[in-house]
Amino acid sequence: EGGGKMAASGTGGREGLSGPGSGGLSLLGLAPGAPSCPHGPALLFVKTGQGGEEGRRFYACSACRDRKDCSFFQWEDEKVSATRLAAREEYNRNHQPPFTHKQNVERYKNFVVLLLSKRRFCQECQQLLLPAEWEEHSDHQFLCDISTAQLKSPSQLLYPLENKKTNAQYLFANRSCQFLLDLIIDLGFRRVLSVGTPRLHEMIQSKASQEGDFRVRSLLLDIDFRYSQFYTEEEFCHYNMFNHYFFGGKAAQETCRKFLYEDNGERVIMVTDPPFGGLVEALASSFKKLMAMWKETENEGHKNQEMPMFWIFPYFFESRILEFFPSFCMMDYQVDYDNHALYKHGKTGRRQSPVRIFTNLTPRLIVLPMEEGYRFCTICQRYVSSGNQHCEICNSCTSKDGRRWKHCDLCQKCVKPSWFHCTTCNCCALQNHTCDKTDAGCFVCGTAGHKRSTCPSLSRA
Ligand code: SAH
Ligand code: ZN
Ligand code: ZN
Ligand code: ZN
Ligand code: ZN
Repeated sequence: EGGGKMAASGTGGREGLSGPGSGGLSLLGLAPGAPSCPHGPALLFVKTGQGGEEGRRFYACSACRDRKDCSFFQWEDEKVSATRLAAREEYNRNHQPPFTHKQNVERYKNFVVLLLSKRRFCQECQQLLLPAEWEEHSDHQFLCDISTAQLKSPSQLLYPLENKKTNAQYLFANRSCQFLLDLIIDLGFRRVLSVGTPRLHEMIQSKASQEGDFRVRSLLLDIDFRYSQFYTEEEFCHYNMFNHYFFGGKAAQETCRKFLYEDNGERVIMVTDPPFGGLVEALASSFKKLMAMWKETENEGHKNQEMPMFWIFPYFFESRILEFFPSFCMMDYQVDYDNHALYKHGKTGRRQSPVRIFTNLTPRLIVLPMEEGYRFCTICQRYVSSGNQHCEICNSCTSKDGRRWKHCDLCQKCVKPSWFHCTTCNCCALQNHTCDKTDAGCFVCGTAGHKRSTCPSLSRA
């Protein structure tokens, strides 16, 4: 299984999804009147030829990059009969979760009053079970004696959906999660819109219930509906961040809008850690809509501002993110994960995580931990990793991956330490690269010689 937040990136079931000009698939985006699958409005794609000429356009599921997870497909110019439309609506209705969020909230209330010995969680159905339901799940594996502490950390109770390309879940290591929360508090924020960050949400929720003077609140937006078993409709919205779709309709949208309204000066920040697929433009378009929602909350002060945001994503997407959010800066902090063997802080020397924080806040305010080696560069006015040397020629701390980069006079920029200047390609590259006609370079890392589908930055070792 090559799935996962890193390896599944981009191509998924749509082999060859790559940059313009190199042949493959391109995303056109959310089109008005787009047909819907169970995950909300489908996205419009176009097949492009080697020369960049556009082929036939089609709609596909926004959330699932694997046809096995959602098989929705429709040509843009296809005539869909009334019977097929009706069948599709029926299908979409039938492919919703067995319980509504409201029902799950009710079930939770009934669950917490049970004696410990009666509290079971079905591991196969990923569901809290009420005694009357035990029978139906009798041949399923289950956990017993579900404690209040377990109910407060659903991200540990639920199985991380890591093998499905659709919903690759990589949970923050405690260290990184605590760092993010401390940073948010130090920056003076009181509300966190957690988009695809269930563990951060959970940390905030449990502190709020344990520490009387803890004033931070969080609203989780996530496509993983299992979380509706643990949170009220004020705490969780079932949401698709690739098409800005609220499964709970107007009411859920209203919950989000209200949350973004900054009562008595309670400042809001949005934190998101999306799956690292190639659909940066789809994510950016949804995040712009969330930002617009914040701006529309008729709060004076907002006039010329953007909603503060942390977008957590690998460094090699920097240019893609800046394309959509020119006000963003990438911070050197390396975000670590619990369940990703490659990107956790090891015992013996750290594995370097490629995941960073992109933010529209002033970089110098993002204080990175000195005890982990980060230092402040007075010229760049931001905290940088210990290996990141200030380059006199570029006049900036140029390393993206934490290692010391070297300046190439011919390229007139700093490059990775392992790169050499190739006179055939007229740029720096790995020594053993193949000087290739695919000069467009990889859509993800920009290096010549391979396409996105085989980008080494995205694969597991
Ligand atoms: N590091 C985070 C989890 C990031 S994993 C934490 O520890 O809190 C990516 C998250 O995005 C998962 O929670 C996953 O359920 C969610 N997700 C994946 N696809 C999504 C989509 N289309 N819309 C909304 N959320 C999505
Ligand atoms: Zn079951
Ligand atoms: Zn510097
Ligand atoms: Zn340089
Ligand atoms: Zn060079």
